[in-house]
Amino acid sequence: MATDGNLDGTLFGAMLREFEEAARILSLERGIWRILTSPKRQITVSCPVQMDNGEIIVFTGYRVQYNVTLGPAKGGIRYHPGVTLDEVTTLAAWMTWKCAVAHIPFGGGKGGVICDPSVMSRRELEALTRRYIAEIIDAIGPEKDVPAPDVNTNEQTMAWIMDTYSMHVGHTETAVVTGKPLELGGSLGRREATGRGVMIMARESARHVGFDIKGAKVGVQGFGNVGSVSADLLAKAGARIVAVSDWKGGVYNAKGLDVPALLDYAGRNRTVQGFAGGEPLTNDGLFKLELDVLIPAALENQITMANVADIRARVIVEGANGPTTPDANDQLYKRGIFVVPDILANSGGVTASYFEWVQDRHGYFWTEQEVNERLEAKIVQAFDAVRQTSIDFKVDMRTAAYIVAIKRVADVTRVRGMYA
Ligand code: GLU
Repeated sequence: MATDGNLDGTLFGAMLREFEEAARILSLERGIWRILTSPKRQITVSCPVQMDNGEIIVFTGYRVQYNVTLGPAKGGIRYHPGVTLDEVTTLAAWMTWKCAVAHIPFGGGKGGVICDPSVMSRRELEALTRRYIAEIIDAIGPEKDVPAPDVNTNEQTMAWIMDTYSMHVGHTETAVVTGKPLELGGSLGRREATGRGVMIMARESARHVGFDIKGAKVGVQGFGNVGSVSADLLAKAGARIVAVSDWKGGVYNAKGLDVPALLDYAGRNRTVQGFAGGEPLTNDGLFKLELDVLIPAALENQITMANVADIRARVIVEGANGPTTPDANDQLYKRGIFVVPDILANSGGVTASYFEWVQDRHGYFWTEQEVNERLEAKIVQAFDAVRQTSIDFKVDMRTAAYIVAIKRVADVTRVRGMYA
């Protein structure tokens, strides 16, 4: 799947285009190029589950370990009807570059199960999770591959994974998965970490571009764990959250939305649509707004050639993975819009996952302040390294992030050498 075949229109093809631009600038040798564009391992499993009505459904699940040169594979597991092997492989590649940019000792992995959790009961989701983990159990572990939450999975899902793995190996093994509930080896600050990282990236970008985050107009697409925490923390930092949209609809308020009230509303209604503190807004409408900061925090392929001309934000911070297509990215760069790419922008989550894994392995836990201070330091370091690279090489932030990441993985690949 890696380099042969027609990849046009695939997500992996889009990732390759981003990779190749940076690899060319680095004059990456052909052999390392081949290694870094080949997924190390792709696992496909069938997961039979007896549903509440007695019927047996067989769900397809994937786990891809894209590259483990820097350490164990790391990356979330998503539950979504649209999951494909192409998507999971690409997300695993992005995790590889993300961990390298964040400068944490992990490779990249990702998992996905084709299912629609919105129509499944808690018991069905637990059965599916346990069966999926049982099917990939030999491939995961604290030293091998450490899953985490992603789209439609949460702390409860991680608890089931930790328990299933622990039952199989015969002892409690908390470090097999991150994003766990606090009482079973989770880390303070992990749940908010991706959003906190996005907030810090937005603040640093504003400083770089030349405006203050206080009073800045912000629009957020997606109100899941990433979008909602980003909006909340940015509002606390003094920004004005003027628009939020999600899978169902959106809300707009030029004076700034009351974010705590919106969080409360969305918690009860599973959507921001219908919130009384603003006017209705569509997803397309959100992208057309004049904003200082736009945060796409939903799914892939949201900013495309079909809507890129409408975008009037000064800064885009990609909370989601892959929200911008490569062609649209080129347009944004030409128009001088400062884009903080996904592999940098949302790396706060996996950085806090690294902290959780370290704490689990030590059996010694940090205060929330320690977690947040270390997170802030890592995020600012990563932002500065990429910004400096973009200045040195006269490239956009995405290419710069790839340059930093590829260089780190390639250097270690060379030093480790070839086995057999
Ligand atoms: N799913 C998150 C991401 O895409 C977090 C991964 C992790 O913490 O391992 O970065």
